[in-house]
Amino acid sequence: MTARQCPECGGLVASTIEACPHCGHIMSNVTSDASSHGENPYNSLGWVILAIFLFWPLGLVSLYYHIKSEDNWDRGKVAIAEMYGKYSRRFAKYSVYAVLVALAIGIFLPFLFLGMFA
Ligand SMILES: [Zn+2]
Repeated sequence: MTARQCPECGGLVASTIEACPHCGHIMSNVTSDASSHGENPYNSLGWVILAIFLFWPLGLVSLYYHIKSEDNWDRGKVAIAEMYGKYSRRFAKYSVYAVLVALAIGIFLPFLFLGMFA
């Protein structure tokens, strides 16, 4: 067997490639890369949601890399998925730091002013 029919568009797909060249459908009966199935271990949606709640500009950057990671994971590109997953988590942490810095300034700056004018 050298070619199969794509269930999405009906085009012929060589058995050696994992995605349909006509429509991009992932051929589920390809077992060459088992890790392309299941959950992406390099990505964490929890971090992205936390980041968006805390400081949305950095949260959106985190979400962007999260989507890129998921997309590459679905295509079986594990190394690229890992890279974008790390970026996603990094920007989520920046969001946490941004809120901590803002809180620190908000708490200590009034005392600084009181100290100056007292
Ligand atoms: Zn197709």
